[in-house]
Amino acid sequence: MTLPVIIVHGGATVFKDEFHDAIQEAITKAAHVGMCTFDNGGSSLDAVEAAIYVLEETELFTAGRGACKNKDGEIELDAMIMDGNRLESGAVMAVQDIIHPISLARYVLERTPNYQVAGSGADKLYKQMIEEGYRNEVEANRSELPAIAGECDTVGAIAVDSQGRITSGSSTSGWPGKLAGRVSDSAIIGSGVYVNELAGASCTGKGEQILRIVMARMAVYHVEQGKSVSEAAEMMVSELRQKTSGEAGLIMADNDGNVSLAYDTPHLPVAIFHPELKEPYYSIKPKWPLPS
Ligand code: ASP
Repeated sequence: MTLPVIIVHGGATVFKDEFHDAIQEAITKAAHVGMCTFDNGGSSLDAVEAAIYVLEETELFTAGRGACKNKDGEIELDAMIMDGNRLESGAVMAVQDIIHPISLARYVLERTPNYQVAGSGADKLYKQMIEEGYRNEVEANRSELPAIAGECDTVGAIAVDSQGRITSGSSTSGWPGKLAGRVSDSAIIGSGVYVNELAGASCTGKGEQILRIVMARMAVYHVEQGKSVSEAAEMMVSELRQKTSGEAGLIMADNDGNVSLAYDTPHLPVAIFHPELKEPYYSIKPKWPLPS
């Protein structure tokens, strides 16, 4: 076993050249911060929350500070975090006035008897989380910068800690101009995110297509059936294309610390920290498998 590991993505989409350096810096920093939580005794849950938090903070992605507006000109965010060992998850949907829905999703997982909380209920829970001091309040001001990808660039991460426990997560504001109240696959268990004790997946692409094939759960199912995470990821991207004409990307990891990715969009920024790599890996257009 080569653990711990973390893999982080910045969305299956197309990014203009002028943003590539900033994206590299953000994604690599997110993976680095996630990895540092292990040095401080953290679990894979801590690593995934920390990595996604960094990306939500950047304004580079359509998540957190960079969120795009819905048809009514409002921002509604979705996020989910799932613990594969406990087979439990927390998700928030269409939550407003918040920068870090990934932390609220973690709060749902750790401190409530429910798994998925939407709209005003999630807004209320945010206030409760701050009052309890579970996480600190973060200034909710956003700039009016245009979303840099022009389309959508959800963020996600998977980490495996030294005990082989896998966590997967995702955070997004979904597609610009979406209907008010629309919920992304990213916050739906089994579609955008799924993980059990064997393997985990975090997907990105058009939610309306990903939902149709329950993409993350099916990716893990293929690993249960004996496929490697690389084979499973490839299979899911081609299945999505065949069945829905959709384009997508996903990252995966198993409890031995094997990681993988697949995508058929122009870009899928990915950073990987892995004990078998001489140095952290980053690419906006990763070739998989990595050259040895
Ligand atoms: N899956 C996200 C959504 O449909 C978008 C993305 O992954 O880029 O909301």
